[in-house]
Amino acid sequence: MAIKGMDNTVKLYQLKPDSGHGAVITDVNGKKYIDMLAGVAVNLLGYNDAAVNKAINGQLKRYIHTSRLFYNHQGEKLAKQLVAKSFGGMVYYVNTGAEANEVAIKFARKWGILKKKGAYKIVTFKNSFHGRTIAALTATAQEKFHKYLKPLSPGFVYAKFNDLDDVRKKIDAKTAAVIIEPIQAEGGVNVADAEFMKQLAAFCASKKVLLIVDEIQTGLGRTGNLFAYQGYGIKPDVMTLGKGLGGGLPLSAVIVSKKLKDIFAIGDHGTTMGGNPVACAAGNVLFGKVSGKAMLKSVREKGAYLAKKLIEIKSPKIKEVRGAGLLVGIELTEEAAPYVESALKKGLILNSPKPNVIRLVPPLIISKAQIDKAVQIISEILK
Ligand SMILES: *Cc1c(COP(=O)(O)O)cnc(C)c1O
Repeated sequence: MAIKGMDNTVKLYQLKPDSGHGAVITDVNGKKYIDMLAGVAVNLLGYNDAAVNKAINGQLKRYIHTSRLFYNHQGEKLAKQLVAKSFGGMVYYVNTGAEANEVAIKFARKWGILKKKGAYKIVTFKNSFHGRTIAALTATAQEKFHKYLKPLSPGFVYAKFNDLDDVRKKIDAKTAAVIIEPIQAEGGVNVADAEFMKQLAAFCASKKVLLIVDEIQTGLGRTGNLFAYQGYGIKPDVMTLGKGLGGGLPLSAVIVSKKLKDIFAIGDHGTTMGGNPVACAAGNVLFGKVSGKAMLKSVREKGAYLAKKLIEIKSPKIKEVRGAGLLVGIELTEEAAPYVESALKKGLILNSPKPNVIRLVPPLIISKAQIDKAVQIISEILK
């Protein structure tokens, strides 16, 4: 399948969506699919959440866009919720995950000039994913993304994930920041060890290095904590959010801690569309729902249930099941692509960010019955 005249860089699923409801997509032929991809970890509340739709419609009737030069009540309300439930401070809006990381990188560079004698280096981790713009892709420490882009953006250093000794070697007086995903989702669902994360945070603090968590995929309840860093008992200096933040509309954000809120001054940040009121209206409803205690508890329960059921399949093709909450990776002993295809035929949408890893990121509102059905299909295809 291909779309005429549009984007030859993607291999399309053999499915033409007609509509979506909850965790299910119906195609143009009326066939239903359980969606374990959810718009690439975007549709946290599934399709057609009535409250999100209502909020969008409500703001549409007032205005769609005025630019960030004007008061934005939706943006203010969302920022208030975001800082209250994370680590305080200031919110800068943009539109995509990559952009949020770009802002975080620029922020760290200015901080380095003001507060650390011109420190500029950014340490990131092998197998990370931070987005598709040039600096964000340079931060993305995977050679396959760098191949055709050289020269890359200068000042990036790569460390081994879950290896504090290597981080120690890569940090010096010129290091401004470390950027880490608590779980490398695109990199194959690699979970940061609890001890590593704690020691990394302490080491960064001792070396006066900003700790930036990229929670674009792990944030907003995905792992069963509102933000994954909270599960580690650490406090980052900066956090980037995106994907589901706008309830399916483009919206991303950078949150900086209270003590950093005066680093950026007038003119240091700019965006034409960032913080769009319609996207923020959706974000307000979404955030209210995903930050609820009952919602987070249900994500932990369903995530544990899903992982347990997958382990019980006991297929020789499954090497490992790993993840947290409703971000689950199945590492296979062979290529995942053919299984993704056969699952689709049976009405299940899967995805493999790495050749031998299937990643499950269903909507947080998926039901236990839908999980059962999905696991049944996975067990059939991996027989
Ligand atoms: C998806 C993702 C990004 C990039 O987001 P875009 O909206 O595609 O730019 C960055 N970091 C992480 C961890 C992601 O999962």
